[in-house]
Amino acid sequence: MITGATKLAAVIGSPVRHSRSPAIHNAAFAAAGLDWVYVALDVAPGAGYDAVRALPTLGIAGINVTMPHKADAARACDVLTPAAAGLASVNTVIVHPDGTRVGDSTDGEGFLRSLSDEGLDPCGHSVLVLGAGGAARAIAAALVGCGAHVAVAARRDRAAAELADAVAGVECALWPSSGSVGAEIVVNATPIGMGDDANLVVEPRADQWVVDLVYHPVETPLIARAQTVGARPIGGLGMLVHQAALSFEAWTGVAAPLDAMRTAAQ
Ligand code: NAP
Repeated sequence: MITGATKLAAVIGSPVRHSRSPAIHNAAFAAAGLDWVYVALDVAPGAGYDAVRALPTLGIAGINVTMPHKADAARACDVLTPAAAGLASVNTVIVHPDGTRVGDSTDGEGFLRSLSDEGLDPCGHSVLVLGAGGAARAIAAALVGCGAHVAVAARRDRAAAELADAVAGVECALWPSSGSVGAEIVVNATPIGMGDDANLVVEPRADQWVVDLVYHPVETPLIARAQTVGARPIGGLGMLVHQAALSFEAWTGVAAPLDAMRTAAQ
């Protein structure tokens, strides 16, 4: 039951109605027996900074931040974790009891944990990240940080070059135009394969790990093709759950109930 003592967490974004975060976090609060509730707040583009500044006034304990507010949220926080500062992007805000807003970026660590769940340690491996948006940047930084050899390719060469300039240790590669590529690990960080899109971003090979950040559908065309050719596929649901779990733990100080979150995410 929601009472005056119930703690509030939220996701801000625009659009945000499709978000799975309320289902994932409310399932987690229930499984952990916490008197918390999580809602989705549609915050108009350009209003993200003000929304984050207002969190202590409203008594909101923590939020997730999604498109298009991640950079505004980073500017609005009082303190940034090293991951968030390096990316100038925040997907989690923790509001301390004294009102301090701490901004974090859990995408990179969530991604690494999803690989670890499948027994993959990327250290020392060659990784090709396809796409040069926010997720690609967070993942490339996390992979470099754990000792992988990272190249990024994007349909606009300039976008890949900008990412490589921004993240030390990342190289540029040519956009594969759906041919196969030589890296040991390939990561799709574009929306290709989402929803009804039957396109393949790349042709997987049997000797590769193939990671798709897209999680809707759970079995994307890339994941299905990876299975068919005998490659080792990792879908995007694990990253979705782990980055949410990291937010949950930062807000509540309680270990995240991963199974309940995974079930809700599906
Ligand atoms: P983003 O910032 O919008 O970046 C998207 C990237 O994909 C850009 O480089 C974009 O290129 C490229 N792209 C878009 N459509 C393309 C196409 N048809 N062909 C080739 N490249 C294309 O998005 P994001 O936040 O990085 O997210 C990327 C994907 O990862 C999304 O599908 C998102 O749902 C998924 N994701 C999953 C998780 C998870 O937890 N599993 C977390 C974050 C993101 P242009 O710049 O040229 O448009």
